[in-house]
Amino acid sequence: MRINIAKSSGFCFGVKRALDIAIKTAREKKNVVMLGDIVHNEEVVRQISRFGIKKIKSLERSKGQILIIRAHGEPLRVFNSAKKLNYTIVDATCPMVKEIHKIASDMEKKGYRIIVIGDRKHDEVRGISGQLKKKALVIENPLSIPLAKVKATKKGCIIVQSTQKLKNALDIVGILKEYIPDLKFFNTICKPTRIKQAEIENMPGKNDCMIIIGSRKSANTKRLYEISKSLNENSWWVNSKKEINPLWFQKAKNVGITAGASTPEETINEIINHIRSLK
Ligand code: SF4
Repeated sequence: MRINIAKSSGFCFGVKRALDIAIKTAREKKNVVMLGDIVHNEEVVRQISRFGIKKIKSLERSKGQILIIRAHGEPLRVFNSAKKLNYTIVDATCPMVKEIHKIASDMEKKGYRIIVIGDRKHDEVRGISGQLKKKALVIENPLSIPLAKVKATKKGCIIVQSTQKLKNALDIVGILKEYIPDLKFFNTICKPTRIKQAEIENMPGKNDCMIIIGSRKSANTKRLYEISKSLNENSWWVNSKKEINPLWFQKAKNVGITAGASTPEETINEIINHIRSLK
């Protein structure tokens, strides 16, 4: 059985960078806190807490400490409140997310209504919307387009959550074009995501079994799994070696493996070694 590992498997640049910043800060200073989990992965969250970084739910309780902003970014109001409460801010927002923030606020200043294609409840989307003066229109898929609001928009600017599927974005853009006379579109799906998605569109056809590694909380892992499953029925989403079923590999000559952007190397290696030990 041959195991083919996606080159883009695991941490993306932005997650790696945010983790390095967080760990470096925790090594050098005390009282380091973070609003929520650094990434959507339980193992990484455990590792971070070992460095003494505390997860907080609200800013009020830890006034004056060091606040790390996660890779997904935060709304402007979080930065403003943190400053008022005397936090020292260490901003680990991914530069590619920062770029999306900049496009959104620049285009809003030019009079465009900002339309975000993304998961409404995802921290990155909340962060993007939170850079704006007016409420952004968030659209998750072609079926959830609020037509009345779209029809009332004369100048619209579409930006995309960095980890979205390109097809979903283009389908939505195609529909919005029919209704908004002045429509600008910025494809802000980040490069690491594009590379990951290109690989996952290619691998399922070349492998008899596909294993996608990542937490159930990870939206980008879910997307990788969905693409893989649509192309190869024998695709499985796992987060530990315990979830592996040897029957999946019974007739497999080639097994493809990839992992979400927040999956740590240790988890990936543990699962690969386990699969290797099966035959
Ligand atoms: S998925 Fe892309 S934008 Fe998001 S943190 Fe990773 S590199 Fe940055």
